Amino acid sequence: MIILGVVQRVARLWCGHNMKNITYNSAFVPQGAPASETYEAVTLGAGVQWHEAYAAVNNYGRLMVGGSSAGGSVGSSGGWLAGGGHSALSPNYGLGVDNALEMSVVLSSGKFLTVNRYQSSDLFWALRGGGGSTYGIVTSVTYRTYPSVPTQLYTYQANITNTSAAVELVGGLLRFQTQFTDDGWGGYGFISAQQISFFIFGPNMTNETAMTSTQAWHNFSASLTPFGVVATDKIYYAPSWYLLYQLIFSGGVENGQNVMITNRLLSRDSVATKYAELAEILVNCTASFNMVAGGKVSQINPDSAGLNPAWRKAVTETVCGVSWDEGTSSVDIEGIISQLKGWIKATYDLTPNDGAYFNEASLFEINWQETFFGSHYATLKSIKDKYDPYRLFVVAEGVGSEEWNADLTCRY
Ligand SMILES: Cc1cc2nc3c(=O)[nH]c(=O)nc-3n(C[C@H](O)[C@H](O)[C@H](O)COP(=O)(O)OP(=O)(O)OC[C@H]3O[C@@H](n4cnc5c(N)ncnc54)[C@H](O)[C@@H]3O)c2cc1C
Repeated sequence: MIILGVVQRVARLWCGHNMKNITYNSAFVPQGAPASETYEAVTLGAGVQWHEAYAAVNNYGRLMVGGSSAGGSVGSSGGWLAGGGHSALSPNYGLGVDNALEMSVVLSSGKFLTVNRYQSSDLFWALRGGGGSTYGIVTSVTYRTYPSVPTQLYTYQANITNTSAAVELVGGLLRFQTQFTDDGWGGYGFISAQQISFFIFGPNMTNETAMTSTQAWHNFSASLTPFGVVATDKIYYAPSWYLLYQLIFSGGVENGQNVMITNRLLSRDSVATKYAELAEILVNCTASFNMVAGGKVSQINPDSAGLNPAWRKAVTETVCGVSWDEGTSSVDIEGIISQLKGWIKATYDLTPNDGAYFNEASLFEINWQETFFGSHYATLKSIKDKYDPYRLFVVAEGVGSEEWNADLTCRY
């Protein structure tokens, strides 16, 4: 255990402050691949944060799939990728795991490996969606990049005067997730009983396509005006995705808060058949939703990466959360958490065949192995056992953690 603590601390220190290398290569060939297999790619040291990566590839007239947060603080090569890595661009270009071409990793034995589809392909598979802190320490990742493209932005906001209209509107919004993401829109939204808003990006989309694609939703929303829904929506054009990214995400910083969240990767089937019941829960929990699946994400072979196959059926990720102020009593916190557990159970019972995103989940998700990793769990476990035979790496509710006690201090 002492060794584990030391390794974790050393890894964090180096990844966070020193591994900032960014190398752009317009003709990258993965090790072991035929010389003709080239990509316009960027290799990022494990300490690179997304805002740094986006700025670097933009200098070459390129964009890439990465995370979104105020200030772009999320790490580009750590937990984000290990859990799957979603982006507002994912409905067009896939998830992080679909765009990683090669990774460098240090194993618990001390061995350094370069892994890709041609070398140690089983480990490369597991590192793409099988969870952070489980197989080894990733020191760099090479990602695909794409040409920078003009991008449409659609914004929607509704003020609502009664809860039943909010539920009706959210039910419609859930049904529209499939069409939106298959048309290439991706972005983020917020739900409460009084207000529903979202903003979505349409890369490489014409203004006419953007208008046609949002018209049915606009009409549906307008049909609820007599019931207390007052909505405004607008389409904007930007000459590049990066410009929009800078406008929306470059300001501000995220500070620490007492928050617990749960999420669900809602499948096409669930939004088509369970939308009314799901809408009740989402309005009640003051949810947010990430329109980061569907489209391209659905078209990729579910077995091409260790990622939970539930992602390939999903069209949206919904998130419910609770928070409390510093100094709240433990009894009150327990009460708040039991509300979260109630939403987890209600959503799970409605959508037992859908999964949850490992990176934005609660420790109280039901049946976590299946929920986070689906049918890939057993293979991920055998790869973990192969590459980390000393069980040096462990993370709560990560692959193989069932071999440990709840505090992860003793292995059975
Ligand atoms: C403000 C905010 C915005 C977010 N936005 C997005 C988003 O747009 N898309 C999305 O998919 N997710 C998003 N997330 C969730 C995010 O993916 C997870 O929080 C993820 O775990 C962050 O990884 P990290 O490496 O930056 O953080 P850390 O907390 O440092 O790491 C998370 C886990 O990965 C392990 N790990 C980290 N680095 C390595 C490494 N080099 N090798 C092996 N294991 C490693 C850590 O030990 C830990 O277990 C967001 C989270 C926040 C807080």
